[in-house]
Amino acid sequence: MKPKLSFEWLHACSGCEIALLNYGEPLLALLNRVEIVHFPLLMDHKYTRPEREDLPLSLPEADIGLVSGGVAHQEHLTVLHEMRRQCRTLIALGTCATHGGIPAMRNQWSTADTLQTVLAAGDTEPGPMLDEPSLFLDRVYSVDEKVPVEVSLPGCPPQPELIAAIIEALLNKDTVPPANKSVCETCPTLRKGKGQTTIRRFLDNADYDRDQPVSRMRCLLEQGLLCMGPVTAGGCGGKDTPLCLRARVPCRGCYGPVRPGGNQLLDMKNALASNGIDHRSIVDRKSLLRFSGAHGLIQPAGKRR
Ligand code: SF4
Ligand code: SF4
Ligand code: SF4
Repeated sequence: MKPKLSFEWLHACSGCEIALLNYGEPLLALLNRVEIVHFPLLMDHKYTRPEREDLPLSLPEADIGLVSGGVAHQEHLTVLHEMRRQCRTLIALGTCATHGGIPAMRNQWSTADTLQTVLAAGDTEPGPMLDEPSLFLDRVYSVDEKVPVEVSLPGCPPQPELIAAIIEALLNKDTVPPANKSVCETCPTLRKGKGQTTIRRFLDNADYDRDQPVSRMRCLLEQGLLCMGPVTAGGCGGKDTPLCLRARVPCRGCYGPVRPGGNQLLDMKNALASNGIDHRSIVDRKSLLRFSGAHGLIQPAGKRR
């Protein structure tokens, strides 16, 4: 019998699932080895089974479960608990699941403020949940804050090869490949030592010669651009140049902190100090937690520690 795979998404954008589909032809070989029992992006599947009237919803059993997205309201929580109950190995897929990701930016407001100011005043249809504010949790949580997970795979989205490599490793009962230390580790830019002493504006372009490879471009942090490579987990470019650096733009931190439990804001302040850059020149410090605001790192103003 083939091992069973189950996918779920919570407060998510579907980018993580699309990333796996983007794996292309090698995905077909992988899919031949497994049976997908639940995948809302691709399959119509009922969430209740008549024989389990005792459960609010019921999902199929699986050997490996992958959950993307943060946990923002009661429905997410119910689905997540059922995934945990049914999946032998649970993978938190993508930075929303591992660190709260973009959805956790809302943790800077209380739930009441979020509903009244942000959702109700927006141009988009807020949906029926606005009528039942108690369904919303007090903040957006990462998956591991609510249930234990066996594997955390950050990235917004994670590289398709990384997702496939982890599924392969679990299928083969191998060790899950270790994460790279930081984005800087695989960045080939030239380091010349301390450069700019203040952060330049976000929209400033880097200085580089477009006819020269990235390895001839000076490190963007040394150029005074807010590159979060030193405090961001690596892996987005495989063993090659990190993705944003290929486009000659700074890393924005989308793989979350290098260390489990790390704080990209505090770590970046230290990295700036080591590079002789004044952290007070950052216009929006909170943006350093744009991908990792769960675990209580972003809080409403009145609650900040
Ligand atoms: S991690 Fe990024 S790609 Fe994945 S669900 Fe969150 S926002 Fe979308
Ligand atoms: S700070 Fe940015 S540009 Fe500099 S080495 Fe690290 S990733 Fe590369
Ligand atoms: S360079 Fe940074 S922001 Fe860009 S994809 Fe890699 S981890 Fe994400």
